[in-house]
Amino acid sequence: ENRIVTPDYTAEDVDAEQSLRPRTLAEYTGQEKVKENLKIFIEAAKKRGEALDHVLLYGPPGLGKTTLAGVIANEMGVNLRVTSGPAIEKQGDLAALLTNLAPHDILFIDEVHRLSRSVEEVLYPAMEDYALDIILGKGPSARSIRLDLPRFTLIGATTRAGQLTSPLRDRFGVLMRLELYTKEELCGIITRSAGILQIDCEPGGAMEIAGRARGTPRVANRLLRRVRDFAQVIGSGVITQETAGRALDRLEIDKLGLDATDRRMLGMLIRHYGGGPAGIETLAAAMGEEAVTLEDVCEPYLMQVGFLMRTPRGRMATAAAYAHLGLTPPQSPPP
Ligand code: ADP
Repeated sequence: ENRIVTPDYTAEDVDAEQSLRPRTLAEYTGQEKVKENLKIFIEAAKKRGEALDHVLLYGPPGLGKTTLAGVIANEMGVNLRVTSGPAIEKQGDLAALLTNLAPHDILFIDEVHRLSRSVEEVLYPAMEDYALDIILGKGPSARSIRLDLPRFTLIGATTRAGQLTSPLRDRFGVLMRLELYTKEELCGIITRSAGILQIDCEPGGAMEIAGRARGTPRVANRLLRRVRDFAQVIGSGVITQETAGRALDRLEIDKLGLDATDRRMLGMLIRHYGGGPAGIETLAAAMGEEAVTLEDVCEPYLMQVGFLMRTPRGRMATAAAYAHLGLTPPQSPPP
């Protein structure tokens, strides 16, 4: 996976992102509705001297779920523990995490839909009653003891809320969906990042990158770094609209932010399946990609720009998608 526009976390993002992460709600760009609600919940919890209710954040990768968990912890004035569903292999792993929390601390579980069933079962009483049920011994002599846990907040993140089991989903008091960012919001994020990284980026350059960052801050920050490389080697070091445009063209990210995989998905749908409807598994197999990659990474953005529709019978390309690829729609035009 070496797509430059992949919103998934890559090794080179690790260092770069630490310095770019906003720490407060005021610094956190966009997601206005989410922020407004969170402000109220945080203030209310602090007034009552209680832990914040459990929060589920969902939305495509790279939109700022982990960042927001950090912001919430910071605003609450508590510690944040970060882990992920696949990292918690055994019940004991979760028990160790939970018993090490201080009152009101936040445990952030990324990819919370990937917790195993047995680990989930430990989580239910922990979330509901702040209790840990431990089984001692085996067979007929086994008995269970209950340990009290500090009042904590679980923040779960997932790319799709529908992937969660309903008993788990029901135990979150607050469900929040993060949306793709507007071009203007991304432009603000890029300008802020350029300031922190001491990159000389003109407003036109920031706007050019923003327009091709597929609504995703992680992609925006990554494109900024790639364009900087290009500006330093080929240009004067300053990111102008022109250098940004040339760099992104060279990276095969088109004017709308589609990369080769996006175009391949649309091309496959149009050329091999008559524009659809085609099932996502079928498309993924034909392309040699994972269905989840197409669903989590390509689709949200292709739907946002109006190139793809999800129908009960499968995915369909729109007339705009044909036009973007320079193809002629069939006689009875697609919607
Ligand atoms: P997710 O957990 O949803 O995959 P992250 O929280 O890791 O996404 O965000 C990826 C990067 O994007 C962060 O390191 C941060 O620099 C940037 N970012 C995300 N959301 C925002 C935002 N609202 N404002 C500014 N930067 C953001």
